[in-house]
Amino acid sequence: RYLDKIAAEDGDVHAFLHIDADGARAAAAAVDAARAAGEELGPLAGVPVAVKDVMATKGVPTTAASKILEGWLPPYDATVVERLKAAGTVILGKTNMDEFAMGSSTEYSAYGPTRNPWDLDRIPGGSSGGSAAAVAAGLAPLSIGTDTGGSIRQPGAVTGTVGSKPTYGGTSRYGLIAFSSSLDTPGPFARNVLDAALLHEVIAGHDRRDSTSIPQPVPPVVEAAREGARGDLSGMRIGVVREFGTTEGAEPGVIAAYQSGVDALVKLGAEVVEVSCPHFSYALPAYYLISPSECSSNLARFDGVRYGLRVGDDGQRSLEEVMALTREAGFGAEVKRRIILGTYALSSGYVDEYYGQAQKVRTLINRDFTAAFEQVDALVSPTTPFVAFPFGSRTGDPVQMYLADLYTIPSNLYGGPAISVPCGLSEGLPVGMQVMAPTMRDDVMYKVAAAFE
Ligand code: GLN
Repeated sequence: RYLDKIAAEDGDVHAFLHIDADGARAAAAAVDAARAAGEELGPLAGVPVAVKDVMATKGVPTTAASKILEGWLPPYDATVVERLKAAGTVILGKTNMDEFAMGSSTEYSAYGPTRNPWDLDRIPGGSSGGSAAAVAAGLAPLSIGTDTGGSIRQPGAVTGTVGSKPTYGGTSRYGLIAFSSSLDTPGPFARNVLDAALLHEVIAGHDRRDSTSIPQPVPPVVEAAREGARGDLSGMRIGVVREFGTTEGAEPGVIAAYQSGVDALVKLGAEVVEVSCPHFSYALPAYYLISPSECSSNLARFDGVRYGLRVGDDGQRSLEEVMALTREAGFGAEVKRRIILGTYALSSGYVDEYYGQAQKVRTLINRDFTAAFEQVDALVSPTTPFVAFPFGSRTGDPVQMYLADLYTIPSNLYGGPAISVPCGLSEGLPVGMQVMAPTMRDDVMYKVAAAFE
């Protein structure tokens, strides 16, 4: 049924870059056979899932929405994909995204943008815009995204879906095409918080193939979502970040919907208090030094030799010329901007001033979170300052695009879990509330989110 719906409706939305109909039918048949044989099946067996095209899928095209990876067939599955298969989920295909997960609108895909199902003239958020739109349009009940600076939560907010970024290291990066390795985190999209927790539980947990994977049990996220759904937050303290209240540029309609969300938390019995996180205002500039630096290093592997595209290899040109021509043709403008920014920030003579300084700021932001979580169980904020914007309205000025992640980036720099849950409409378009929790307390985050939704 989902494959039929995709065939009928994805022409308008363009959530998918690749549909794996044969793989999906085979996976569904295998679950049917296991069920007929009386095997015990997990809660998501037979449930379709769409996967962001940044996750390696064995024998299935994986491009990260870049021309430089066109035609590449990974010889292995990402750990997240391996776990989806082991749980009996049915992978429908690969979803569209900003090239190499750099962007907030999916307009930077080399294969054309995804449209927001709420209004086809507007962006679905990004970089995981295809995964968010697939769930919002009912083309998949669940999907996988990745979040480096907000790329699950911001598209979740602007498509009216639930988007969750687990604790960094709580979900494996093995087989995730790297953008910024100290920040990249795979996570779930769903229509509601319990579904997101069920998917979270399937993909999370220690993986020895990822050196930053946390060797601890997965927090009890499903149990917490069920507990939260009973609607009682009494005894919980929830913090509102003072510095976010004073940021300019958030749309009044977004603030109003978010405020109604805060009021709802009080009605559920939570004690809502203001906390100060004085360094949060430096998160965005620190992120735009750290993530391009790591990107410039990670993307050095696309040299025209190892994967996908190769340009100018005519037997006459030098290796260096072939590499340069391949990278010139294979990378889009935003990716080139990040590589140049990162190379500059890491260059000798500047590394202490830029990259080193940003790392110090990151430490100060971590201390803000640690101090805040001594006072409260969770923090809330709007997910993103504005509702889904029209195509082209923020591509002219990179900083206008970067502002989409004003509220989401601090928790990436810190590493704790954060989720976006729908909290109302502004101008008829969805608004999300973000719930942030201490590292490895993903359960606390799901409890608050489930109570609220
Ligand atoms: N929008 C941010 C960026 O462009 C975050 C992207 C992400 O989380 N992958 O870098």
